[in-house]
Amino acid sequence: MGQELLAASTITARRLLVEPVEVDVRAYPYDCHRCGAPQIVPAVLNRTEQFDPFSVFDAAEGHLASVVAELLAIGFHPAASSIRVRRSAGSQSSYLSHGCQTCDALFGAFYLHDQFSDHAVQQDFHQLPLVMRTSMTELDWVLTEVVHNNSGLR
Ligand SMILES: [Zn+2]
Repeated sequence: MGQELLAASTITARRLLVEPVEVDVRAYPYDCHRCGAPQIVPAVLNRTEQFDPFSVFDAAEGHLASVVAELLAIGFHPAASSIRVRRSAGSQSSYLSHGCQTCDALFGAFYLHDQFSDHAVQQDFHQLPLVMRTSMTELDWVLTEVVHNNSGLR
């Protein structure tokens, strides 16, 4: 490997490991179907001020939901506790889900995927309430992107 190429690789590696990527957690406003309490459902993750299809992720469940939960927890945001494993009566299983901060009702992933699709069609993710602006390393963003792209969730 030539010296220039080695230097370029080192710079790339450093950028991946150290340089922060600014990201936003956005939420769907939702009145709980069980207790009626107005909620925010922090199920959208995007690169700050970027709303193209490659920069906005559906964090309704699974790894993306865990990334959002971690970002909110690091920032001491109260909504962090709304993302946890719950039993779904409909699917007869347990999964990492969004839910009500008042009564803990599960907000189903199918419903949230529909919300995501609707906003993708309307191209109005920027109008969703901003829950938190924070950052992750470039590497964490790239890994999140890889998981997202392999999950079939758009
Ligand atoms: Zn509730």
